[in-house]
Amino acid sequence: MHHFDYKNGRLHCEDVSLDAIADKVGTPVYVYSTATLTRHARVIADVFAGMDCLIAYSVKANGNLAVLSTLARAGCGADVVSAGEMQRAMTAGVSADRIVFSGVGKTRDEMRAALEAGIHQFNVESAGELRALSSVATSMDKTAPVALRVNPDVAAGGHPNISTGKSGDKFGVPWDDAPALYDEVARLPGVEAVGVDVHIGSQIGELGPMRAAFEKTVGLARRLREAGHAISRIDVGGGLGIPYAEGDAPAPPADYAAMIRDVIGDLDVQVILEPGRVIAGNAGVMVTEALYVKPSPDRTFLIVDAGMNDLMRPALYNAHHDILPLAEPAADAPTVAYDLVGPICESTDKFAAQREMPAIEPGARVAFMSSGAYGAALSSQYNARPLVPEVLVDGDRFAIVRRRPSFEEMTALERLPDWLT
Ligand SMILES: *Cc1c(COP(=O)(O)O)cnc(C)c1O
Repeated sequence: MHHFDYKNGRLHCEDVSLDAIADKVGTPVYVYSTATLTRHARVIADVFAGMDCLIAYSVKANGNLAVLSTLARAGCGADVVSAGEMQRAMTAGVSADRIVFSGVGKTRDEMRAALEAGIHQFNVESAGELRALSSVATSMDKTAPVALRVNPDVAAGGHPNISTGKSGDKFGVPWDDAPALYDEVARLPGVEAVGVDVHIGSQIGELGPMRAAFEKTVGLARRLREAGHAISRIDVGGGLGIPYAEGDAPAPPADYAAMIRDVIGDLDVQVILEPGRVIAGNAGVMVTEALYVKPSPDRTFLIVDAGMNDLMRPALYNAHHDILPLAEPAADAPTVAYDLVGPICESTDKFAAQREMPAIEPGARVAFMSSGAYGAALSSQYNARPLVPEVLVDGDRFAIVRRRPSFEEMTALERLPDWLT
């Protein structure tokens, strides 16, 4: 469900035509819908209504301050994987006691900042990290609330590059080591076990692997309680998939919630959710302009002004995005098979191969649908291209929430050494 539709023959975000935004801001540009973001946050809250539940939106999916502020107002906390993301979340109005800190490589400085802020929970991923957290917290005379992220050795079934719960993945504490590590938490000063955490991957469309992982996790939580650990939280991570293409039918949030309720059963715990993609993915599009149509012997290239530096998912995961012209094509418009490519000097700078689309003339604009998560968040200035701007729509108004930098801003951190001046 999203708020991008054709109205009067032009593709709109809510009540704003994407052409109006592109005319003002230029292309490429990301456009986000407030109505979609808030609706998704509400859907997740509704399906878990009545449960003690913290929705910690995964900042890495889309960390724009305006997006975070929209979601904070909609009641979301935050799941962060760096001190920078924690600072973003707090700047956007998320209170520290609604922030969980995940990630395999937290530095001592990051631990210190999070302890200073007073976050809800550290999701700890190794014995080394646990000992470092213990020493940092002790030196500050604080106690860090800890959940160990366990690796349940379950294949998520999605793309291997976004699977995180198999025993060969770098994430989480090896399953068989977890009980002993909880005993170590109990022995160490400055750390206190409050929960068990699991996250098996992203863009997961089937509930089976998640159920398997959560059943193992809940079983572990029960055994830990019996052994005297005060486990009061289960963090089920994120990972719920979204539809990217026609025919995609990932498990809906209501089924996901019903499964979690079933698995948690009578275990009296706070459930922490870390949804990213399912909230932001379909709430954004990237608009780009066709530059050239280039026929070659066996295919036709459509060269657009966005590159893999602006939207990396196709190059990184071979991901599919639906691509819609801003001008609504006639229902019976003939199609052309295009290879859609960007201007970057890399062969992986390809958004789609042999994509059947209505004919696109140079100067026409198209929207990459479902680009709200892991889109702008992964963008870079590769090829000295300015960072892609972002726009937030709310009803019939829009605002630039990240502007395109100037050349001077792009190079502001660089200095010539004195022997070159
Ligand atoms: C990336 C990530 C998430 C969010 O995943 P989505 O697929 O976007 O929901 C949640 N938790 C952790 C630990 C992550 O690394």
